[in-house]
Amino acid sequence: MSDIEERLTFRTAGVIGLGLIGGSVARDLAALGVRVVAYDRDPATMESACAEGVVAEPLGTSLTGLSDAEVVIVAVPVSALRDVLRAAPPLPLARLITDAGSTKRSAIMTAEALGIGERFVGSHPMAGDHRSGWAASRRGLFNGAKVYLCRTRQSCEDAVTGAHDLWRALGGSPEEIAPDAHDRLLAYASHLPHAVSAALALTLESAGVTRAALGAGGRDATRLAGGSVEMWTAIARDNADDLLPCLVALEAHLQRLRAALERGDEASLRDLFRTARSWSFRDGADGSR
Ligand code: NAD
Repeated sequence: MSDIEERLTFRTAGVIGLGLIGGSVARDLAALGVRVVAYDRDPATMESACAEGVVAEPLGTSLTGLSDAEVVIVAVPVSALRDVLRAAPPLPLARLITDAGSTKRSAIMTAEALGIGERFVGSHPMAGDHRSGWAASRRGLFNGAKVYLCRTRQSCEDAVTGAHDLWRALGGSPEEIAPDAHDRLLAYASHLPHAVSAALALTLESAGVTRAALGAGGRDATRLAGGSVEMWTAIARDNADDLLPCLVALEAHLQRLRAALERGDEASLRDLFRTARSWSFRDGADGSR
């Protein structure tokens, strides 16, 4: 038995939502010998997950078999978390209830409001890509990925340990952070880049420029715009308070760039590009990402 398998103290996990994130969690857990009971609202997804031998027991809309789970992972759009947790049956065996959502403040508030704060620890794996759904899920997605963990005000140590063990077993590096700090940081680090990519795609669309006309840089910069509409609408709405100041800051930089161009101000343009370039090389990064 490997170190990881020894560290896994649970034998049955419940996964709700079998898209890119939940599907990848389920695949990894099944490969580690964990019995996965799961539900996804999409019947075709359920069929594939069972046919591929990842899900041992498909759950119906009543989620009845979820009561057998020692760990429950909800990986649905952040707007759906509350309804899923409310619909869940009693979970007498669950030492850990967690999510995978890209925002954490609302998840923590939801868990506390539903009275499951003691066993809930919020999770946000910093892995994934712009593709979505079961077909995009894969084993090893979380290898080497940072996973933010957020405690509720009542999270018990057993649940926190369970969350660390779960994500380590999937190859991730758990790191605890307060929910407010998480949402502020991720507004800049993830939600703003997506918003910029979407705005860029809209700009190209209005100019009649197709993706086929783009070079490598243009393709990189617009890749995020291809993400799930449902997931990103939910994130933007949920984290609007933190995302709005990011957009205001971005607009200020665009205005500076525009003003420098209008003035034909080469020194200002150089200054802007120099500062941006030195940021991209900081922390040992090679500036290519
Ligand atoms: P996804 O669109 O690939 O999968 C979501 C799945 O949930 C779908 O299979 C959908 O059918 C199912 N679903 C939706 N509502 C449901 C409901 N009420 N009950 C049961 N199933 C339901 O999305 P994803 O990328 O796997 O994202 C899942 C969560 O993980 C989101 O909260 C997202 O914010 C977060 N996340 C995503 C990424 C990423 O890069 N995609 C990274 C980290 C975290």
